[in-house]
Amino acid sequence: MAKQVQWIVVTDLDASLLDGSYSYASAMESLEALQTCDIPVVWNSSKTLDEMIEMAKDWPLKDKPILVGENGATLAFPSDTEDVAEATESVWGDFLRADAVKGGYLCLFDSEVRGLILRTIQLLKQQKGFAFRGFSNFSDEALIELTGLSDKAVQLAKARQATEPILWEGSDEDYLSFVQMIKGYGFKAIRGGQFTHIMDTKFDKSIGMASVVSLFAKRYPESVWKTIALGDSPNDAVMLEQADFAVVIPNKAKGTMTLKRKDYILADGYASEGWNDSVLKFLKSTQQFI
Ligand SMILES: [Mg+2]
Repeated sequence: MAKQVQWIVVTDLDASLLDGSYSYASAMESLEALQTCDIPVVWNSSKTLDEMIEMAKDWPLKDKPILVGENGATLAFPSDTEDVAEATESVWGDFLRADAVKGGYLCLFDSEVRGLILRTIQLLKQQKGFAFRGFSNFSDEALIELTGLSDKAVQLAKARQATEPILWEGSDEDYLSFVQMIKGYGFKAIRGGQFTHIMDTKFDKSIGMASVVSLFAKRYPESVWKTIALGDSPNDAVMLEQADFAVVIPNKAKGTMTLKRKDYILADGYASEGWNDSVLKFLKSTQQFI
């Protein structure tokens, strides 16, 4: 008998599911439809698990989102999900382990990696005289001043497990040699808005998505698991290229990105409105939405 196709929605947050006020209110119609169809929603962001767990506290639907944090390097599953601990154990072995149950989520990540990143970049800074400061070097007051975030938001953003954001204060030439050197240690630098994120080269948003899919495939082998991914910026591109179905959300401030694949959909609206419209159209096209 042919296996049944089951979809998973994997989405970026800022300027994709969330509008300028960090709200998904305009996407509620499609989120409710996904819940009705039992389609899991995965948040895939550069945010920390703590930041997303805080946001998920207000989630109005029965099934809470699955979380992929820090660009694919951390995962969290609602801890009330049936057999989740057993399922994650069997998929991950001892690479990622359950380090914490927090706010109703079982969090999975490699608890060694951040310490390794911090020690490596600190060593390079001392040896080569590179000019940068990382999250771990700043006081809370300095981070509040730099980012414009509230005290609570800074605490959540600081709760990092797998990446270190740095503020580069040296020359472009030094930056290039710094990037070359960390590559030798298995790390990469992802340029964000204000900060550059130092992380393990083996993670990105497509790896985070693939990790969730492999978990579902292992837990529910009777179905074929397929992904629809939605995102607005270049760090979403890897995930959108790899997904079974891709939706690019146009970005009013930064412009609209293009993908290498030709079969993607460009949403009709910005942020949560475009998200809502695209997901509803997708559900209608797959005949899953009645
Ligand atoms: Mg975004």
